[in-house]
Amino acid sequence: MEKINIKTLSNEYSIFGNKGNVWTDTAHAYKSGHGNLCGTPALSSNHAMYAGIEEVGCPDCIKILKEQNKIQDHGNN
Ligand SMILES: [Zn+2]
Repeated sequence: MEKINIKTLSNEYSIFGNKGNVWTDTAHAYKSGHGNLCGTPALSSNHAMYAGIEEVGCPDCIKILKEQNKIQDHGNN
């Protein structure tokens, strides 16, 4: 599955994920002052950050990031 490196996004985004997200490689994009883009509550400790994960793997977060043109899609270049 396609993923988005958090470093390619602006500074207001960071990685967020609970243990399950770490295990399944589905970390969310957490927007400062907003929460996870997909609406999943960020209730647990940020295990994705602790684990050093840098890639957003949540399909819903990726979809929203693309809709907002936060990332460049080089697929057609
Ligand atoms: Zn998400």
